[in-house]
Amino acid sequence: MSLQFEQAQRIKNLPPYLFARIEKLIDEKRAAGVDVISLGIGDPDMPTPGYIIEELKKQAENPANHQYPSSAGMLSYRQAVARWYKDRFDVELDAASEVVSLIGSKEGIAHISFCYLNPGDIVLVPDPGYPVYAGGAILAGAEPYYMPLTAQNRFLPDLNAIPADVARRAKMMFINYPNNPTGAVAGEDFYRDVISFAREYNILICHDAAYSEMAYDGYKPPSFLQFPGAKEVGIEFHSVSKTYNMTGWRIGWAAGHPQVVEALGRLKSNIDSGQFQAVQYAAIKGLTGSQEAVLQMQKVYQQRRDILVDALNSMGWQLEKPKATFYVWAPVPAGHTSDSFAELVLDKAGVVITPGNGYGSNGEGFFRIALTVEKERMLEALDRMKKNIGTVKF
Ligand SMILES: *Cc1c(COP(=O)(O)O)cnc(C)c1O
Repeated sequence: MSLQFEQAQRIKNLPPYLFARIEKLIDEKRAAGVDVISLGIGDPDMPTPGYIIEELKKQAENPANHQYPSSAGMLSYRQAVARWYKDRFDVELDAASEVVSLIGSKEGIAHISFCYLNPGDIVLVPDPGYPVYAGGAILAGAEPYYMPLTAQNRFLPDLNAIPADVARRAKMMFINYPNNPTGAVAGEDFYRDVISFAREYNILICHDAAYSEMAYDGYKPPSFLQFPGAKEVGIEFHSVSKTYNMTGWRIGWAAGHPQVVEALGRLKSNIDSGQFQAVQYAAIKGLTGSQEAVLQMQKVYQQRRDILVDALNSMGWQLEKPKATFYVWAPVPAGHTSDSFAELVLDKAGVVITPGNGYGSNGEGFFRIALTVEKERMLEALDRMKKNIGTVKF
């Protein structure tokens, strides 16, 4: 008989996985022969550009790359990141002390909590938000304080609404613009306010910039690090995942405050041994090569966004087109919860949308659609929704 092992409290504390129910329904539909179209997945459907793959192949042949890499990343990789920041944001970074490589930014986002949070400490987390912010903090024994992102606040946290005693106990704050799941973007004032808030309460700011290159209509999202004083109060997480269709390759970085970068690197040197150097070389190719492929992707997503938003608006929604990310965040019609609407759309149209409550309690009443399916499939999905659900009311 198998032994029964008592799980550690930190694992028991992890929030339940909220998409389990919809995934079971999807499996049932597929088993019943329904041609399910998923608009749920936030993972680029287009392949990694060929010149990046060629670089991986070439570097994979070199025995020098077959040994352990350094856990902080090759200096040449960190220099490529620094050069990209200079070109794209006019931000100066010292590659050796202000950049650390990550095995995807998700890895660093989860691990940073172990560097700065003790059990009982408070961390400020956006709700709705990428689940890894709270997940890492809970594993470190800390307590998330959820900052509501609401339509009234254009999905920016209201810093003035954070009680002073919470702010005083808070050690870290996660923010993420352009935002998953809401598609919202942040203006310069917001970043300046965050930096003064951080100074007032001695809070480490962790900005997640995963979508900085997925923007439309000529909009260029800023880096947190380009604002005065940012490097003194925080770090930015980033990766090549979304920018170059490289989610499967697992390579990213954290950049900014040198002591924070050092602490994260020191923690990681006790956990992992860095990313395969051939993958680092491939990422360098992406960051330093022509950015034409990125412009092409932006065009594709922008066209899909326009098709999707126009179709939903013709059914009764009143959505603005998101300026960035490959997500559309929309309210569910009157009489529905996030779950009941996602179930209805799956049942009637065979289309998967993501219920907003999976990203936090303030996501209740919303759903997320990802623009990561090709135009024909998206048109088919929208056609089925129009035919089988019709006009909606709010
Ligand atoms: C996709 C995504 C990331 C990137 O994760 P990687 O580990 O770098 O692939 C980070 N943050 C958010 C909000 C994301 O949606």
